[in-house]
Amino acid sequence: MEVYLSENAFVGLLVSTVEVYRRECFGILLGHREPDRIMADFVVPYQSAVRKFQEVHMDWQRGQRVAEAVRATSRWELVGDYHSHPMYGEKKATTKLSRADHESFHADGTSIIVAINDGHRQHRWGYVKGGLISGTINGYSIRMAAYHKDGDAVIRVPLICPYAVGFTAKTKGPTSVEVHPD
Ligand SMILES: [Zn+2]
Repeated sequence: MEVYLSENAFVGLLVSTVEVYRRECFGILLGHREPDRIMADFVVPYQSAVRKFQEVHMDWQRGQRVAEAVRATSRWELVGDYHSHPMYGEKKATTKLSRADHESFHADGTSIIVAINDGHRQHRWGYVKGGLISGTINGYSIRMAAYHKDGDAVIRVPLICPYAVGFTAKTKGPTSVEVHPD
């Protein structure tokens, strides 16, 4: 199993994560499924997520309602969810699943975790060991990982995003927009 991110989904994940930093964002992934691959075509940020610093309350039923509305009007289906792990104080965020993440993991589909930390030099986007995607934007260091339930175990699966690879966020220039952390 692998998870494939479209350009839309990649940008959506980044914007969602940076927007609410240092809080967590949460949303659903819409797309379609192939036998050995989940295609995440775009993301829908979840407006009503109860955001706290360490935890976002997942509500799969609400996600299903959104997905049903989407299904009724388009060819997309709900293929998973995502949330961010923001840096907390001096504690660096990772893409590891928390205990709550494990407990609330939905058997069907994928979960993408986006870890965001600040204070990093710009580096080019690319794949890193373990099937993750990593890069920087506006001084934030970002890592994305995808998980999938395989039997009873939740395992990390390769996250594929051709658009992200080699992508370098635009640096400060006359036309760029700077995002400052709070
Ligand atoms: Zn989490």
